[in-house]
Amino acid sequence: MTTAIQPQPGILDIALYQGGTAKIAGRDDAIKLSSNENPFGAGDLARQAYMRAGHELHRYPTTDHAALRAAIASRFGLDAGRIICGAGSDEVITFLCQAYAGPGDEVVYSQHGFLMYRISALAAGATPVVAPERDRTTDIDAILAACTDRTRLVFIANPNNPTGTMVPVSELERLADNLPAQALLVLDGAYAEYAEGYDGGAALADQRQNVVMTRTFSKLFGLGGLRVGWGYGPQHVIDVLSRVRGPFNLSTTQQDVAEAALSDDAHIARSLAENARMRAWLAERLNAIGVATDPSHANFVLARFRDAAQAEACNAALLADGLIVRKVDSYGLPECLRITIGDEAACRRVLYTITQFMERQA
Ligand SMILES: *Cc1c(COP(=O)(O)O)cnc(C)c1O
Repeated sequence: MTTAIQPQPGILDIALYQGGTAKIAGRDDAIKLSSNENPFGAGDLARQAYMRAGHELHRYPTTDHAALRAAIASRFGLDAGRIICGAGSDEVITFLCQAYAGPGDEVVYSQHGFLMYRISALAAGATPVVAPERDRTTDIDAILAACTDRTRLVFIANPNNPTGTMVPVSELERLADNLPAQALLVLDGAYAEYAEGYDGGAALADQRQNVVMTRTFSKLFGLGGLRVGWGYGPQHVIDVLSRVRGPFNLSTTQQDVAEAALSDDAHIARSLAENARMRAWLAERLNAIGVATDPSHANFVLARFRDAAQAEACNAALLADGLIVRKVDSYGLPECLRITIGDEAACRRVLYTITQFMERQA
């Protein structure tokens, strides 16, 4: 480029985030299993709140999100004063990088970690640092080994996307205990609700000065299109993040619909139960036809093929049958396909297509 007008260093190193493919040309019956969305959509209470919100579109939203924070605090047993809400947890991740990492600072995440960590770190001018995983699972020793006196943030998605694997709370505790003093640990709990007996890191974020948890309404709560997420952590961190947050970052519609979704116990219970049932079913059936998966604690499975060519060929077979899953080469996993757990009909169609495909391979 020959212009003198240039962005900050790092910005041009950002590769644009590719969302899950949503359409197949020439088909209107495709099933989208590429973005880990709730196959049952938003619940009835959220839909009703959305309709009501239409009456208030001329009003500015609250700037403090008080009602939504109170509802989150009550549902998860947290302190409302230490919650910050964002336009998806992506925005909370952005706040963290903006507030804590700049030029010369390092942001650590794991090998197959969520791509937004790298994007947000580069956008803040910081240096992304990747720690290797062990068998597609976060390796706490490798994370600690990657830390230096320049490390400001460490991002761990637990369960991780796109692998679905997770590390136990005892390992997260060990990580928090051994981080350099200037580093903040961010536990991304986008899939926490799907992991049985896991609090998303809430207790750690509650007790430690160096741990923050992020959560979202995009997955279990079925509101990916609405863009609402939140963070929870020590008061000193929430006070900092609140300074970089735009006062009107969440519309009244976003706040009201998210609040309604939190109270929809029937929709939450059904979504969790069906996910657990079909996830176990799909993993077992895939395994039986020679397609390995790691134990998933989320709402997807990572199907592992012989090599990248076989994964690509299977992806083509799925597309030909109107099934859209996620290629994960950009996560360093070209031999894998990430398949969101759909409803039973969708899971059966996926299994049928992959079974036919594997029989042709034999
Ligand atoms: C989906 C996802 C999120 C959630 O993003 P939102 O901005 O809240 O929609 C966060 N982290 C990971 C690892 C995810 O997969």
